[in-house]
Amino acid sequence: MLVKINNLSYIYNPNTPFEKKALDNINLQIDEGDFIGLIGHTGSGKSTLVQHLNGIMKSTSGSIIVDGINIYDKDANLREIRQKVGLVFQYPEHQLFEETVYKDIAFGPKNLGLKDEELKQRVKSSMELVGLDYDTLKDRSPFELSGGQKRRVAIAGVIAMKPKLLILDEPTAGLDPSGRDEILDEIRKLYLKEGITIILVSHSMEDVAKLSNRILVMHEGKIIINDETREVFKKASELEEIGLGIPQITSFMREFKSKGNDVRDDILTVEEA
Ligand code: ADP
Repeated sequence: MLVKINNLSYIYNPNTPFEKKALDNINLQIDEGDFIGLIGHTGSGKSTLVQHLNGIMKSTSGSIIVDGINIYDKDANLREIRQKVGLVFQYPEHQLFEETVYKDIAFGPKNLGLKDEELKQRVKSSMELVGLDYDTLKDRSPFELSGGQKRRVAIAGVIAMKPKLLILDEPTAGLDPSGRDEILDEIRKLYLKEGITIILVSHSMEDVAKLSNRILVMHEGKIIINDETREVFKKASELEEIGLGIPQITSFMREFKSKGNDVRDDILTVEEA
């Protein structure tokens, strides 16, 4: 077990006219090796939830254990938590700031105290993992790169910390279809090669179904579905038959199958790498 969340709730602007309960008694366990697709409509609480996992946001009530550390314990080392849980925000390229790709990716691991040679290897392997060529790009300004490349640089910077859990919040937002496919493909390879635990936040059922082995559906601050991907699809058909279909899932399923696809039992297998 990598993460355990108990009775987590979060209220924005409590005791004001703008009070908003964004997380409502969340209970969740994440195991090592999971690839979780976290989906739900805009405003359902996805971003708020993932920002709790590395301690950026602090819950109103409830607890979170990450790799055996209770992150709200007064002795918990938040730096350690942030190293273990890498969070790639929406539009992460907006946070690039160094003058070269190398420096940007090296920024986090440098603060971990890595020596030059080790740092170089870390940057190089992180770039390779997201499909960026080290020699041609390391000295370029990140600002000169294409949208998709910038995003990969930002993702490489998080991977370079060697997190145990990598969270990607809408990593394909704003990219064109080929850029989207490329990023998703890199994420899939990263999972297969590195065996890293991943949470992919998305409002696209298609992206989530193609990659994850477990799907969480959030709705109004609650997790309303938490199951293996194939079970979610099975349930969606059953619910549809009795007129309680989840429109987002059932319409996607119809389209997915009409293209000749089916949900495999083994959504991801190492042999495919
Ligand atoms: P999602 O990531 O699923 O789109 P969010 O976690 O961003 O959902 O938002 C959950 C709820 O919290 C929404 O109702 C949203 O309007 C509200 N919310 C998000 N951020 C803030 C904020 N900074 N201040 C007040 N309310 C917020």
